Amino acid sequence: MAVNGTGPYDPQNVFARILRGELPCKKVYEDEYALAFHDIAPKAPIHVLVIPKGPFVSFADFSSNGTEAEITGFTRAVGKVARDLKLEAPGYRLLSNVGVEAGQEVPHFHVHLFGGKALGAMLPG
Ligand code: AMP
Repeated sequence: MAVNGTGPYDPQNVFARILRGELPCKKVYEDEYALAFHDIAPKAPIHVLVIPKGPFVSFADFSSNGTEAEITGFTRAVGKVARDLKLEAPGYRLLSNVGVEAGQEVPHFHVHLFGGKALGAMLPG
């Protein structure tokens, strides 16, 4: 079910539980600011989620309330993951759903990183 992208933050959401080690993930990368792992239902040959470690509901929340260090650290982590996956030359797509109309399902800010094939139109239809 789609969620509101403006909070409040639910510490029981699935990505919070992954961050606390209560649920497993297929980890791709981790540092002080970010964790990256494979999406459980991939929509491309490479479909990785990158999440900040802090309790942010969505990009709306993160971009308003994240510290400079959190925003910089997270952004650099997304770029590093794409580089490490050798996606820079062929190309890749970043996407973040915010709120109901975008169909956001997990209320912890995340960026989808898609790659591994020609990704086609930006939006269906
Ligand atoms: P969104 O609609 O942008 O909130 O996307 C949420 C994404 O999280 C979906 O692509 C799901 O497949 C993915 N997802 C949900 N639970 C898990 C999980 N336990 N591990 C990895 N990915 C998950």
